[in-house]
Order: sequence, then structure tokens, then C-alpha cells
Amino acid sequence: MGRRNKIYEGKAKILYEGPRAGTLVQYFKDDATASNAQKKATLDGKGVLNNRISELIMVRLGEIGIPTHFIRRLNMREQLVRQVRIIPLEVICRNVAAGTMSRRLGIKEGEKLPRPIVEFCLKRDGLDDPLIAEEHIHAFGWASQAEVDEIIGMTLRINDYLQGLFTGVGIRLVDFKIEFGRLPVDDGHQVVLADEISPDSCRLWDRETDRKLDKDRFRQDLGDVAEAYTEVARRLGVLKENKHPNLAVIANNDEG
Ligand code: 5GP
Repeated sequence: MGRRNKIYEGKAKILYEGPRAGTLVQYFKDDATASNAQKKATLDGKGVLNNRISELIMVRLGEIGIPTHFIRRLNMREQLVRQVRIIPLEVICRNVAAGTMSRRLGIKEGEKLPRPIVEFCLKRDGLDDPLIAEEHIHAFGWASQAEVDEIIGMTLRINDYLQGLFTGVGIRLVDFKIEFGRLPVDDGHQVVLADEISPDSCRLWDRETDRKLDKDRFRQDLGDVAEAYTEVARRLGVLKENKHPNLAVIANNDEG
């Protein structure tokens, strides 16, 4: 690890300079934070599981024509990705009321929304990633109108696809957060899906029992966090068995 230049270290991931210009290595840590990093823990195996789950989702989204930063998984904790300039927005898509939407609008957690709702937050930890309106995005130049339209269109397509993917394995996709970046191309740039999609950034409930299989287990001190992530990975077919954390199975299939 020491041989590489660290470009950025976030709460759950590290970005290193990649092997070729225009690439980065995205390393998934076991660290978990909540309440804007006031609550911290290390969850054994989380990075490995998120690497696998996010790989599967990025590959599948690529197959349906969503442009992403993902190139390939390198090993248990790392992916090779395209270097993009991150658009400073957290794009949230909701199907069922939960979290800040329930608190802000007084809608009971678990209530199905009349249609998917896309929200924007400004990516600014110092301000707790505040909810913003499209007006703010345009007025402050965080993204152009065309980019926002593209982001909303892609987010709704991603939501459609992921709802189907998770329904197929008995999971309700309550909501999720995604990020986009600008990838340089010949005549300008292309907006692509970046970062990760994993139980860290989605709310995933078992369809039969409503059991939470995502980071809310950590945020709300529900326990068995890694077991829940393992369950998601197993149902998606990226883990062969349901032991926690059955990392040997993953390790045996790894290149590096
Ligand atoms: P809420 O606004 O209700 O807290 O979160 C909505 C959805 O976005 C949830 O699935 C939550 O996990 C995700 N989300 C919101 N902010 C963040 C963040 O800063 N990091 C991550 N990983 N996910 C987030």
C-alpha cells in the first residue's frame, strides 16, 4: 500500500493513484461512521462485502447502459475505477418513507411513497450534507441544468433496476444515496455514476419481516451489522454461504 499515492481518504473508502493515467484504486475500509462521524466503529469484513456488492451492482448497471466509473475489481478490498471529478451532490432516491424524510415531513417510517422521490443534498460534511433545492444547484453552479436532468433520469432508471434486483432476492429497496462525477471525454465530459452502492448507502429491508439489512443497524445500535451485510451479499449471489463473515470463500476467488 505504501508504494501508492493516496489521493483522498473518506470515512469508508480510500482513493489511491491508479496504474494508468485517468484511473484510481478505490479501497473499501471496515470503518463505519454515523451522525456525521460522531459515532465510529470498525466492522470486520464490511469493506470486503461492500466491495463485492458494489461491484455486482455497478457491473449490472453498466449492462443496462448506465455509465459508471467502475472498471474492474482488483482484489478483496479494491476496485480499479476511472478518475472523475465528483459533482458535490448526494442524490437520494426514496420509495418508502424513512430516515430524514420521515423526521422532516412527519411521514411514518415504512409508508410507501406515491412515486419515487429524488432529493439533493450538498456534499459538505461541515454542514451535515444539507438538503437543497434544484434552484440552489443552478444558482451556485454546482451542476448545469442539463447535468441535473441527466442525473435525475439516471437515478430513476437505477432505482427501477435496483428495485427489481432486490425484489428478486426478497429485499425492499427503501431508499439509496448515489454520487455522480464528470469523466473527461474528447469534447468535454460525461456524467457517470461514481462512488459505491452498498448497504452503507441504501436502506434494505427484508420483504417478509421488515428486518433492516443495512447501515441503520449500526446507526440505531441494532447489532449484527456485518451479519446483515453478509445476508445481502449471500442473497445477491456474491457469497456462497450464509456464515459470517465467510471471507474465506471470497478470498479463495481473488486475484490479489
Ligand atoms: P436519510 O436522508 O434518510 O438519512 O438517508 C437516505 C438514504 O441515503 C439512506 O439510504 C442513507 O443510507 C443514504 N445516505 C444519506 N446520507 C449518506 C451519507 O452521507 N453516506 C452514506 N453512505 N449514505 C448516505
